[in-house]
Amino acid sequence: MTSSQALRGGLRIEAHKQRSTKHHIRTASHSEHYVIPLDQHSGRPALPLVKVGEHVRMYQPIAQPAPGISAWLHAPASGEVVAIEPRPAPHRLGAPTLSIVIANDWCDEPFDNAAAIVSFEQISPKEACEHIARGGIVGLGGAAFPTANKLESSLCENGPQLLLNGAECEPYISCDEVLMRERAEDIVFGARALLHALCAPNCTIAIEDDVPEAQAALVKAIDKAGDSRIRIRVVPAIYPAGGERQLIATVFDAEVPHDGLPADIGVVCQNVGTAAAIARWLRDRQPLVSRIVTVTGDGVRDATNLETRIGTPFASLIADCGGYTERMSRLIMGGSMMGTPLPHDDLPVIKATNCIVAASALDLQPRGPEMPCIRCGACSQVCPAFLLPQQLYWYLQPFNGEQLERHGLLDCIECGCCDYVCPSQIPLAERFRESKPLLIRELDSRHNADAARARFYARNERLERLEAEHRAKLAEKRRPKSEPSSS
Ligand code: SF4
Ligand code: SF4
Repeated sequence: MTSSQALRGGLRIEAHKQRSTKHHIRTASHSEHYVIPLDQHSGRPALPLVKVGEHVRMYQPIAQPAPGISAWLHAPASGEVVAIEPRPAPHRLGAPTLSIVIANDWCDEPFDNAAAIVSFEQISPKEACEHIARGGIVGLGGAAFPTANKLESSLCENGPQLLLNGAECEPYISCDEVLMRERAEDIVFGARALLHALCAPNCTIAIEDDVPEAQAALVKAIDKAGDSRIRIRVVPAIYPAGGERQLIATVFDAEVPHDGLPADIGVVCQNVGTAAAIARWLRDRQPLVSRIVTVTGDGVRDATNLETRIGTPFASLIADCGGYTERMSRLIMGGSMMGTPLPHDDLPVIKATNCIVAASALDLQPRGPEMPCIRCGACSQVCPAFLLPQQLYWYLQPFNGEQLERHGLLDCIECGCCDYVCPSQIPLAERFRESKPLLIRELDSRHNADAARARFYARNERLERLEAEHRAKLAEKRRPKSEPSSS
């Protein structure tokens, strides 16, 4: 076990995990209905394989990946498909999104998936990737990027370095910590499967220095597996140490190019929860139909971590935790720093739901009135992405796409560190999040304009060349037979 240097920038924020980690992982109550949005992963929405009225069994595939980047979806319970229609979802708060709704028959009749693959070494790396895809496995760190797509795009000649992210830096989220404490053997099994699928030489599990119980459990599980390719790297508990680029910089002292991916420097990063989900699929034939969700905050009576079936309403999880307290003021999906405020709790858990914070004013102070920037520079000192937030803010008013691109708006990871320290109470991260789509649109239209200009010049050149050839042929025809050609 080795330690790493601190990341550049970032904040030491008081952790609020004791409340939710005092219990073991509990199983969430089963629900009458499960709502499964077809677009809950990155990439293209999955395509339904079932019809309304059809009976499905638990673990049965109910939607297949669309071509390109996409993922399988499976039934979290047996029952009847009662609707395939747009439903509100926590990742698309603007408009309902097409979802499969299953009415639970409370029988949990399992679908007969193929025999378990205990020895994944007996299949080829390509087959291992295909199996991982069939399990509907996506990144459980928040982005829900389909894992098989990421693995396939990361293959390189000597095998990339595998980095498992157990650095759970958001102050309220503890689902990875309890997973590492209680299911370390699943993580190690998943790490070994990933090493095989990637033909990777080694795996580093990054974990923060303030979770000794989780560290000890991982050490024990690695020893038990007797796999010397897997090692642990302890990183300082500084927010946002678990950001993919920040973690790679801390662990490997290497920088991912600003317009590139970790694979460009030979690294593949996966969340520890993703590794455990791979283990449950390859070893136990249990596709990704559930995940651990932290339910916490001063606004809920009994904070805990719940093993929750995908599609379960948030309200049901809150009820499992004893309901709201009278101090509850805001509901957030994700952590207090980077999470999304929710309008209500009638929304389904999706694969990306790692945490629900029912916050009171004790958890999150209401923001004061916004004041002008005083150019104090505090925001740039804490920015882990080496940006100048005050300059970005300056170029937002009015919107100056060229300068925003030059100053790296698209490299902003929306961590909120700049907000946290800003004495003028400017919601910088929110402004940056809202502005990115505008900049992307501008860059697209600039790119389209450049392409149209290039096409225009190419066409003119071609017409001029044809015209010149035509004239040359005419001149040749008109030349008296006796006159010699100049060429
Ligand atoms: S921290 Fe706030 S006030 Fe200070 S420079 Fe940054 S944006 Fe301006
Ligand atoms: S939100 Fe963006 S600009 Fe602000 S500190 Fe984080 S990465 Fe830097």
